[in-house]
Amino acid sequence: MSNVKAFAAQDSKGIMGPWNFERRAVGPNEVQIDILFCGVCHSDLHQIKNEWGNSIYPMVPGHEIVGRITKVGSDVKKFKVGQLAGVGCLVDSCRTCENCKDGLEQFCLNGSSPTYNGKEQDHQTPTYGGYSKMIVTNEDFVLHISENLPLKNVAPLLCAGITTYSPLKHWKVGKGHRLGVLGLGGLGHMGVKFGVAFGAEVTVLSTSLSKKQDAEKLGAHKFILTSDLEQLKSVSGYFDFILDTVSAMHDYSQYLGLLRSNGVQICVGAPPTPAEMHIFSLILGRKSLAGSLIGGLPETQEMLDYCASHNIVSDVELINIQDIHSAYDRMLKGDVKYRFVIDLASL
Ligand code: NAP
Ligand code: ZN
Ligand code: ZN
Repeated sequence: MSNVKAFAAQDSKGIMGPWNFERRAVGPNEVQIDILFCGVCHSDLHQIKNEWGNSIYPMVPGHEIVGRITKVGSDVKKFKVGQLAGVGCLVDSCRTCENCKDGLEQFCLNGSSPTYNGKEQDHQTPTYGGYSKMIVTNEDFVLHISENLPLKNVAPLLCAGITTYSPLKHWKVGKGHRLGVLGLGGLGHMGVKFGVAFGAEVTVLSTSLSKKQDAEKLGAHKFILTSDLEQLKSVSGYFDFILDTVSAMHDYSQYLGLLRSNGVQICVGAPPTPAEMHIFSLILGRKSLAGSLIGGLPETQEMLDYCASHNIVSDVELINIQDIHSAYDRMLKGDVKYRFVIDLASL
């Protein structure tokens, strides 16, 4: 057992502060990683405030983890001490159900183990995430990280990256498609980068006029300010796909209206409150409203390798862990550029 420094929320007030806890000793198939950087996902904020109604406290958030391996168990085959490694949103799953066998561990039929705010596979022991100095994880849920990319910019790939890569791959978004990315935050900016890399024409749909130039720098071909109804009308019936990354309640029907016939609005943003929509928004034009959850382990490694070979990383602002509340405040205002990443040297 090792005593580990962390930052935790103790209840749904969402106040983060120092907290120490025990990590288990490294088992035969496990690796120990000294965490160097951890990205700050909007899901951290939803969950520390119990907005999804499933929070377990104390909660140590963080599922965009990168660091260096400091110990390996006796049976570990894929990793060596000293290598870089990553841990994303999952630390285990049943490994036997049909989804696990298909590499879709995020949909484990027996309940996967999320990296934090969840339980290990004994369905009892709480999991604690990357706002901490160290993690012990089964090697099957640890990702290889390239030495050639700037490490702090790689951390957000572990959630924001895979969450946008996976649906674009699943729906085969690419050349000849018009992709709208709704919300230019952590997920959205990765959605733009992947959409452009896959050859789609990418339009950012944003509430923030101040992000127009950044959208262009990220490679987007067009920018639509969603509060300007004239601009919105100009893309009515325009998109083959909309990747919806918005974290707060919004009108799904309004954006379905921007799809061509047979178009798909892919929801990855997870607002806490249920949405109301008129089903005619789907019937007229045979449109689909779909969802997607992170990605499985094989696809997460594929995405990391793709990023390494195409030089794709996240745009980040590095923060000390003591500044987490001001980062959350800015995130709530949509004021991100485009992912806060915690430097764990500050803990
Ligand atoms: P983020 O960095 O805060 O970005 C969200 C963006 O949505 C904001 O920057 C803003 O972009 C837009 N937005 C926010 N509030 C809005 C509102 N009231 N109306 C319209 N637009 C609004 O968050 P994130 O980390 O990318 O996460 C986004 C969502 O995805 C969260 O709900 C998160 O929990 C969820 N998520 C889901 C998965 C999954 O597997 N499905 C994985 C990770 C995260 P503009 O300024 O451009 O409008
Ligand atoms: Zn996340
Ligand atoms: Zn399973």
